[in-house]
Amino acid sequence: MKRITIAKGDGIGPEIMNATLKILKAASAELQYDEIEVGEKVYLSGNTSGISSESWDVIRRNKIFFKAPITTPQGGGYKSLNVSTRKFLGLYANVRPCKSLYPFIKTKHPEMNITIIRENEEDLYAGIEHQQTDEVVQCLKLISRPGCEKIVRYAFEYAKQYNRKKVTCFTKDNIMKQTDGLFRQVFNEIAAEYPQIENEHWIVDIGAAKVADTPEAFDVIVMPNLYGDMISDIAAQLTGSVGLAGSANIGEECAMFEAIHGSAPIIAGQNIANPSGLIQAAVMMLCHLGQAKVAEKIKNAWLTTIESGVHTADIFREEISKKLVHTD
Ligand code: ATP
Ligand code: MG
Repeated sequence: MKRITIAKGDGIGPEIMNATLKILKAASAELQYDEIEVGEKVYLSGNTSGISSESWDVIRRNKIFFKAPITTPQGGGYKSLNVSTRKFLGLYANVRPCKSLYPFIKTKHPEMNITIIRENEEDLYAGIEHQQTDEVVQCLKLISRPGCEKIVRYAFEYAKQYNRKKVTCFTKDNIMKQTDGLFRQVFNEIAAEYPQIENEHWIVDIGAAKVADTPEAFDVIVMPNLYGDMISDIAAQLTGSVGLAGSANIGEECAMFEAIHGSAPIIAGQNIANPSGLIQAAVMMLCHLGQAKVAEKIKNAWLTTIESGVHTADIFREEISKKLVHTD
């Protein structure tokens, strides 16, 4: 039995977490849970970090954190708990697989199978912001050689382990010659150590356009934090819905697993949210914990459900469901 920390979060968080926990139980996952309270309630009680120090202790002790989406109140000096968790736990790699399930889920890109590996601690997310004058504010982009080495190596090791053929790097090194230049430089150095895996580089703007138009041209893509945030939402949406993708946030000691989407308060409480993203995150977590058999069982049951035409509203298309649902 592995003891992990869970948080049900805000908005659609509790519904999709409860659904996922039911599935984990039915599949006999060897897990025990310590539940902590994070997010809106904690913020609004006056704690601007959205989490108590006791809860941090629980997360650190268990090392594995399974988290539903939370709402960060706008303004008012509230910090994003997602960003602080990644930083405090040293979760340097954010892994986001985005794969089409055509013909079962409608997409313009049936062959798409991209995994985005996003640097998770540095870049404009390092939180170094100042006010220079009354009218000028500034945010610093931080990129370090060790940070680039860890994430790029992770991407190539991932490609090797999952038998992927190519790793692409996205940067804007034609403009940010030092910061993105360093990322690309390290990419070239590490790519040379993996001659069996193809490598290439795209400037991020045209790369993003190419992802939107021809995602099947990509395999694994590694990039700095902010580009990874944006492009992974686009990639998930291209497969059918942001509600479909899960992510793993990996560090040396700890790991956090979550859906890539937010708390979607607009659709909360109506029992219409798609739990797939959090289910995918659970599958990634079970693989990470060495419970591959349970992971496979859940993945297959999820695929069977999708293939049988049981679809939430975000991916529901009448013409597809008619074809899929058996009437006999
Ligand atoms: P947050 O501030 O937490 O990011 P949000 O509403 O921006 O909240 P997003 O994930 O960005 O949350 O969701 C944007 C929209 O995408 C939602 O309003 C919803 O329509 C759709 N969406 C996101 N996740 C799901 C899901 N799991 N199932 C169905 N629709 C979803
Ligand atoms: Mg959002």
